[in-house]
Amino acid sequence: DRQKLKRIVQAQTRTLDGTPVELHANIELPQDVAQVKENGATGIGLFRSEFLFMNRRDLPSEDEQFEFYRRVVEEMDGAPVTIRTLDLGADKQLTHMERPASANPALGLRAIRLCLAEPHLFHTQLRAILRASHYGRVQILIPMLATMQELDQTLHLLEVAKHSLEADGLPYDKGVKVGGMIEIPAAALTVQVFVKKLDFLSIGTNDLIQYTLAIDRTDDAVAHLYDPLHPAVLQLVAHTIRTAHRNGTPVAVCGEMAGDPSLTRLLLGFGLREFSMHPAHLLAVKQQVLKTNLPEVANLVSKMLKTEHPEKMRALLARLNNL
Ligand code: PEP
Ligand code: MG
Repeated sequence: DRQKLKRIVQAQTRTLDGTPVELHANIELPQDVAQVKENGATGIGLFRSEFLFMNRRDLPSEDEQFEFYRRVVEEMDGAPVTIRTLDLGADKQLTHMERPASANPALGLRAIRLCLAEPHLFHTQLRAILRASHYGRVQILIPMLATMQELDQTLHLLEVAKHSLEADGLPYDKGVKVGGMIEIPAAALTVQVFVKKLDFLSIGTNDLIQYTLAIDRTDDAVAHLYDPLHPAVLQLVAHTIRTAHRNGTPVAVCGEMAGDPSLTRLLLGFGLREFSMHPAHLLAVKQQVLKTNLPEVANLVSKMLKTEHPEKMRALLARLNNL
């Protein structure tokens, strides 16, 4: 079976009716790029930059970060590389940051909130990412946005970082695109204001499910309640995709849902045309895309969006995948 999957690596990713679909990869470290290429991804949809910062006592310098990002950008050879700014806190703690422990880390000072509270840390990272953008096609992705103020502050700090590079005579891509993660229900529900100021969106279903259902994604005791097919989750995902497309804004899903082949047809039916996932899932998802006929799935998908019962949802999904 693995052999059969390998044979489709080179094939273009299109549905049966000829609609092109982008399959990108999620990575944590530059050495992951080999597996990305082996499985035929056409870009990096999520580079989790925080992994350079974890399990060490010191902070990486601007130069070290720059080299780390540049390696990936150069190896991807002009294909898009979406670098997510630091998503530290909660399940990804810095060992040495001197901040009082939070009673609810997933609801605490994490990701963009932490970066806005530590502007020096953020400035250094933004400079490093911008410098790497000179060597290929970099896109910047902001995690855990909840409010417009956070986005405005972030865009301002990005301008400051650009000006500081210009003052130093260092090159960067002036057309670098800026996107936001939609992974907090508040952002999904107000996404029509975010699309006005962002070049692209990426839906982080791992956190979106956690926050929508109030299920700690790291707590085994409630793992059985963590349900991507909960009607509330599906409505938020579909609403985000629809709103982005209405505005002409590209949108991807980069959470685990994007790498689950049993959900590929459903997401295609929502209008999704860009998926980013762990490289190990790329070929199985591609196979699903290749055998999906979009006009055929529309009816069942719209039924699923109207369903409020989880049981019925599962039955409809089974029908969708048996088409
Ligand atoms: C997500 O939340 O879905 C996501 C892709 O980011 P992470 O898993 O790193 O929080
Ligand atoms: Mg997340």
